[in-house]
Amino acid sequence: MMDYNKLAELLFPDIDKTPADYEAFYPSRPAAADGAVITRLGPSPTGFIHLGNLYGAFVDERLSHQSRTSDGTPGTFYLRIEDTDDKRYVEGAVETIIRSLGFFDINFDEGAALDGEEIGAYGPYFQSNRGPVYQAFVKELVRKGQAYPCFLTEEDLNAIRQEQEANKETTGIYGKYAEKSRNLPYEEIEANIAAGKPYVVRLKSSDTSADSRHQGVNYEDRDGVTYIVINDAIRGKVAMPANDQDVIILKANGIPTYHFAHVIDDHLMRTTHVVRGEEWLMSLPIHVELFEKLGFELPTYCHTAVLMKIDEETGNKRKLSKRKDPELSLDYYRKEGYHPQAVKEYLMTILNSNFEEWRAENPDAGIDEFHFTTEKMSSAGALFDLNKLKDISKDILLKIPADELADFLINWAREFKPQALPLLEDKEYLTKILDLGRHDNKPRKDLIYAKQIFEFISYFYDDYFTIQERIPEQVSDEDAREILKRYLETYDHSDDQSEWFEKIRTITADLGYAVKPKDYKKHPEEYKGSVAHVSTVIRIAVMGRSQSPDVWSIQQILGEERVRARIRELIG
Ligand code: GLU
Repeated sequence: MMDYNKLAELLFPDIDKTPADYEAFYPSRPAAADGAVITRLGPSPTGFIHLGNLYGAFVDERLSHQSRTSDGTPGTFYLRIEDTDDKRYVEGAVETIIRSLGFFDINFDEGAALDGEEIGAYGPYFQSNRGPVYQAFVKELVRKGQAYPCFLTEEDLNAIRQEQEANKETTGIYGKYAEKSRNLPYEEIEANIAAGKPYVVRLKSSDTSADSRHQGVNYEDRDGVTYIVINDAIRGKVAMPANDQDVIILKANGIPTYHFAHVIDDHLMRTTHVVRGEEWLMSLPIHVELFEKLGFELPTYCHTAVLMKIDEETGNKRKLSKRKDPELSLDYYRKEGYHPQAVKEYLMTILNSNFEEWRAENPDAGIDEFHFTTEKMSSAGALFDLNKLKDISKDILLKIPADELADFLINWAREFKPQALPLLEDKEYLTKILDLGRHDNKPRKDLIYAKQIFEFISYFYDDYFTIQERIPEQVSDEDAREILKRYLETYDHSDDQSEWFEKIRTITADLGYAVKPKDYKKHPEEYKGSVAHVSTVIRIAVMGRSQSPDVWSIQQILGEERVRARIRELIG
């Protein structure tokens, strides 16, 4: 009989803390027992933060921050950096994560913070600094005979895999393939270690007809297969074949695998809800077995759906791809200048199927007043559609007061269009421009994102003003000059809108154009064109384009000098 205590000491001579020490050191959170939801984001610090991260973070943030204890305290959302795979570490990645999410108003209460700081009593929040914690629990499993060192080399593993493939068996270390390592005599292990042979620690997976089944886990036996059944907060009942693999829990370098780190950290940090991508569903049976073996209570799992889009070329649904879809990167939204409120509003429409209905009933409510639920989340792929985001953005921007929008645009320009900044800094002028046509019965919805807005309003700035269109073909060059000459002669900046328009009608009639467009339509032979063509000439002269909001209002903002100068310029 193996003396497991002796084996545990042999493998981890320096680990003197026990799981009980850590349980005491990281006590359970009283708020969690009183209704507060504790969530975490566990990104790898690769420096790339994408829409999927934001989508998940949004779920985490809402679940925790909208939950309340009996005295009204919200739950906790913390940031844990999953940096056990040090190949992927990118300098400044933590800052990027915090700032990128902060831009969308998603803020952490606890965990890794800016400037290498950590906030909270459940740290370290960098997995790379938690080595001794994991090892104490591995040591405990070894002591209980539930984990063992495995010295199989790359070659041994290859040979096993080839044999399994030839026999059409499941690959991996399990059943008879695990036997040799499981039963290695103490002396041999000791000799291997003395000889410096590298080894991993594997979980001794239980027979699925199992002895000590965990209270929190349900099992189902069907057709000779044992399934573990959990209640996923998004998917409802999820049944997966129980794990039978002796998976690696500690790698040869003493660093845990994702599986083990997840179980230890989410237990000790007292996470109540684990929100993560559906790609982790497959390894859920491993996690359930680990929770069971360690005697921990299962958290509530929320496996989110993968973000999909309709491929422009094929018309089929596919996953968003880092290579093909710039909109997958969160930076894209900042660079294009989407307002964070618009992106959040849009994400909420794909997150909760009842959100749009709620929004229609509560047009002016803050988004955080909406009660988010995991039950209303789709478990099939969530469809991301940039055009829908644009539509939502139009509505959202309309609700933001023009002077706030001006600040937003100025901040955006500071980073992404600094050369335009001196112009935009006349905030009063910019605010007037942005406010144009927003208070009408049918307000204009042509502002979408900063880059587009800047393009859209560029004609208000002489430095960016260009004539972008030709005058209508109904108007000869000679007439165009005459229209503008007369317009300039009769222009009075203090005219109100009807006085101003009356003058245009006079010019129209004098030059042989129809004052009423429908007259021209009925008798095209009697007129050169209509008042619409005459106005277009003026539009092009003043704005450089034929489509624009109301000309009179624009001129009031541009100011008399600019209007006259532009017309003079075109008359030549
Ligand atoms: N580090 C994992 C990832 O980046 C986190 C998964 C989880 O949230 O558990 O995918």
